Amino acid sequence: MALERTISIIKPDAVAKNVIGEIYARFEKAGLKIVAAKMKHLSRKEAEGFYAVHRERPFFNALVEFMTSGPVMIQVLEGDNAVAKNRDLMGATNPKEAAPGTIRADFAETIDANAVHGSDSLENAAIETAYFFSATELCPR
Ligand code: ADP
Ligand code: MG
Repeated sequence: MALERTISIIKPDAVAKNVIGEIYARFEKAGLKIVAAKMKHLSRKEAEGFYAVHRERPFFNALVEFMTSGPVMIQVLEGDNAVAKNRDLMGATNPKEAAPGTIRADFAETIDANAVHGSDSLENAAIETAYFFSATELCPR
């Protein structure tokens, strides 16, 4: 087992639904530790930069609109196989296809407002962590 860190973002729809605590409980029950966290209302520039890899996709503008529509909760999760474990907890991108008991199945209805983001690789986890946190904001424990 490899000790990893990954980025999780609770998106504006889930923050508005007041389920930050319920989602945190799932991370903790799965053995993931929150080692940094901040709530932030992303600017358009921040959201565009974060999702730059999707710039050419047809849903890019809608995604940026959505991600800037209200505050998000951003956290660094640490644990064994944290990247894959978080993706498993999240469920499929489209909540309609997400396995029962996953965060997206339980807290989201549509692909464009799907409750959570999670890094898709260790490499992107490092890039996304640096995008939102300075080294001194991480509290390994
Ligand atoms: P994931 O968040 O599961 O890693 P992607 O990286 O493929 O998924 O896409 C980033 C985000 O863009 C998704 O979480 C979703 O909010 C949005 N998105 C992806 N595909 C679509 C689509 N076909 N229509 C609308 N929004 C989409
Ligand atoms: Mg992705």
